[in-house]
Amino acid sequence: METQAPITPGRRGPRAGTPQRPRIGIVKFASCDGCQLTLLDLEDELLAIAARVDLVEFAEATSHRSAGPFDVLFVEGSISTPEQAEDIARLRAVSHRLVTIGACATAGGIQAIRNWFDHEEVRAVVYPQPGYVDSLAQARPVADFVAVDAELRGCPISPAQLREFLVALVTGRRPQLPDEAVCLECKRRGVVCVAVAQGIPCLGPVTRTGCGALCPAYGRGCYGCFGPRESANTASLAKWLSDDRSASDVGRLFAGFTAWSPPFRAMIDAHGGPPGQVIPVKETNDA
Ligand code: SF4
Ligand code: SF4
Ligand code: SF4
Repeated sequence: METQAPITPGRRGPRAGTPQRPRIGIVKFASCDGCQLTLLDLEDELLAIAARVDLVEFAEATSHRSAGPFDVLFVEGSISTPEQAEDIARLRAVSHRLVTIGACATAGGIQAIRNWFDHEEVRAVVYPQPGYVDSLAQARPVADFVAVDAELRGCPISPAQLREFLVALVTGRRPQLPDEAVCLECKRRGVVCVAVAQGIPCLGPVTRTGCGALCPAYGRGCYGCFGPRESANTASLAKWLSDDRSASDVGRLFAGFTAWSPPFRAMIDAHGGPPGQVIPVKETNDA
């Protein structure tokens, strides 16, 4: 069973002056805040966590702010603007460990689907006055800009994995975050396979575990929000999915919250390219 990269404070040696309670920061970029809320949702453990760490930056929960340094910085969201690219570089420089949380930060998120389209066209469709908006041509994962020490996957992240990560952090051990397929969780839970029993397309065989096979448990196929597992055989799954659907439909199945992850991106490109069409802008007389 594989684990994530170690995040124990001792991996690179303790930061000079590291306090007893690690200084933790949580910041966001282009995201919906849902992954940050997962921490607040750990209601039974919140007080115990607060007693073991020094939460110095978490705009979602406190008005007390800090620009660093951080022993561990959790980063939510993709990097979508030039300002964010500068900010993440600055934050990396003051963080001993940097941990990305959620599909936006680890894979670009749903907003990365715009990466297949012309930047100016998308801006014109979305914003009435695109000239006021400064955005990068692509929304990309944090790891494309700075070194990342560990990541928590999902949209949103799993409370159980976040709990495991925090416990590992405060006890100085390596977190146990397995890199298995969602299918294994179906088997453990006794969930009947929706692909086999109902013919519903499911990305579970190539998607990393962590959600408890949430979607199959409710009769839905997995759409890959935890992103591809290591060595995921996406080509084989795509071939199987192609038996009873068009190439563009197969590509669209991979075009979800982790579409920009290289293995899923390759399947989208190999099966019809961009997932959908940008609606052309209509000229209006509105001033
Ligand atoms: S990964 Fe999902 S829940 Fe987390 S910030 Fe992005 S959109 Fe929100
Ligand atoms: S429902 Fe999906 S995740 Fe579950 S066993 Fe079937 S293919 Fe795998
Ligand atoms: S089953 Fe797939 S899409 Fe559903 S929560 Fe789990 S990883 Fe995400």
